[in-house]
Amino acid sequence: VAAKILLLDIETSPNLAHVWGIWQQNVGINQLLESSQTLCYAAKWLGEGPVMFSSINQTSRKKMLKGIHKLLDEADAVIHYNGSKFDIPTLNKEFLLEGMPPPSPCKQIDLLQVAKKQFRFVSNKLDYVSKALGLGKKTEHMGHELWIRCMNKDQEAWAIMEEYNINDVILLEKVYEKFKPWIKHHLNLSTFSGEQVCPNCGGKHYQKRGFAYTAISKFQRYQCTGCGFWFRSNKNLRQTNEEKFVGVT
Ligand SMILES: [Zn+2]
Repeated sequence: VAAKILLLDIETSPNLAHVWGIWQQNVGINQLLESSQTLCYAAKWLGEGPVMFSSINQTSRKKMLKGIHKLLDEADAVIHYNGSKFDIPTLNKEFLLEGMPPPSPCKQIDLLQVAKKQFRFVSNKLDYVSKALGLGKKTEHMGHELWIRCMNKDQEAWAIMEEYNINDVILLEKVYEKFKPWIKHHLNLSTFSGEQVCPNCGGKHYQKRGFAYTAISKFQRYQCTGCGFWFRSNKNLRQTNEEKFVGVT
């Protein structure tokens, strides 16, 4: 069985509030008119099919949330950009408010976390990173006004929002393909499938490349010739009863 990996991005409305100025405002809860909510999502199964899109413009909020809940429920892993801190908790809050149970747990592959840990781009924003990698850029739009116009049910604005959201998922997939051999905590596709394949891409072609050592164990090390990921076997090449010396602490 192949793993189902979902690429996901949501767009949310801003918080709406009465404010008395624009400089160093401390907005009280009683000034809040509406809190931020999901306006739409775009999602795609990795390596297959078109980008799926749903919005509160096309359907009810509940139906949109049920759609994304079902996709998360089916996914073995979900790829996003800052989704661990933003998209997933935002959706969880809305599932909770709608009385929906949690979707089945799945592995989070947050490409912003990968960018921060593994590289030192001058900016970690998706737009910057994808441009730097020559993968294209985010759809241009009118900025904040787009959100205002969508909330006012402007259909032309919604068409741009849809294109913007879908393009983000397409970029996300391209960035994922580049980042793949650098991802430390990927869903392990070898464990998942029970086959001796590359843990990150599922490829069957890899080469023996030296050994990986811990304080007392030695393992065969490999590099995937498909994606370039380094991995090792979990079979210890040192006999457990073989005498070894370790430092005294
Ligand atoms: Zn690989």
